[in-house]
Amino acid sequence: MGEKPFRAKQIFSWLHEKQAEDVSEMTDLSKTLREALSDRFCLTVLKPVDVLVSKLDGTRKYLFGLADGNVIESVWMEYHHGNSVCISTQAGCRMGCRFCASTIDGLVRNLSPGEMLEQVYRMGRLTGKRVSNVVLMGSGEPLDNYGNVVRFIRLLTDKRGLGLSARSITISTCGLPAEIRRLAGEGLPVTLALSLHAPSDEKRRELMPIARKYSLEEVLPACDYYFKQTGRRVSFEYSLVGGVNDTREEAMALSALLGKRDCHVNLIPVNPVKERKYVRSSRQAVADFKNVLEKNEINATIRREMGRDINGACGQLRRSYTHEHTYLPSDSPFFP
Ligand code: SAH
Repeated sequence: MGEKPFRAKQIFSWLHEKQAEDVSEMTDLSKTLREALSDRFCLTVLKPVDVLVSKLDGTRKYLFGLADGNVIESVWMEYHHGNSVCISTQAGCRMGCRFCASTIDGLVRNLSPGEMLEQVYRMGRLTGKRVSNVVLMGSGEPLDNYGNVVRFIRLLTDKRGLGLSARSITISTCGLPAEIRRLAGEGLPVTLALSLHAPSDEKRRELMPIARKYSLEEVLPACDYYFKQTGRRVSFEYSLVGGVNDTREEAMALSALLGKRDCHVNLIPVNPVKERKYVRSSRQAVADFKNVLEKNEINATIRREMGRDINGACGQLRRSYTHEHTYLPSDSPFFP
């Protein structure tokens, strides 16, 4: 717009440090410039459409409307070590994991870096609390929206903005080897979480169609490469599905597969999704599975379930909403 370079600094600070929601807040800019900016840009694109608050643990699930009428969901979780936000990276998803509600209607579109950032900023504002961790574990496959996700992380970690440390950001992926390797070279030491969910290609292919394209022989070396390049220990996500991937034999096979790797396994009893027949493993099966891993000197934690009473699983809230409503960007019933 032909403005002086220092204006860029001021505007960046309003956007990412002070997180202004309207150009009129930018009081150190001239009125003419504010008007010119308002004519061309809209600062906020997300409209809170619904919020569910868990009575069990204070987890909040937000449904946000986008400018084009799509809706996405984001989750706020409070832990002893700080507050975590779980954000979506795509509207829908095309990876097709069998137990996941986000993928049932396929991919609608990628989210922009701004739409991802605003999920973080908005949840901070709405709760009035500090965001200490960001996990890319909402709807979508982050590495299928690579460029926007990397740009989002660069903005989120920028010292002139929120300045979050890359170490407090986790990217969860179903396992795209080329993108994992590429991410290792970005100079962003984010935590990588690989959705493993089975110890063999055969079983993994039943649960995750992407495993038909990339075998464990391609995916695991990409994770090892990530660890080598960034020094960040990789997490392996394992959703336990009753009678499908939760036996002692499978725990032993997983131990053998991971071997002496310096890694961490997160065990998550699957969240049943009504469109799917999968059920969660019994408490005992989960505990036995963890014991086998630990006997084999593999770090494992059973992920505490958050917001079980509020449609906690990936994509469930968005899906139930879009099946009953059409989101009109002009109205937002819950937050005027
Ligand atoms: N696409 C990315 C990130 C989104 S899903 C990925 O695949 O990792 C975040 C995590 O939740 C993944 O490990 C995913 O497999 C898991 N997940 C999805 N639906 C689930 C369900 N119903 N129960 C338990 N875990 C689920």
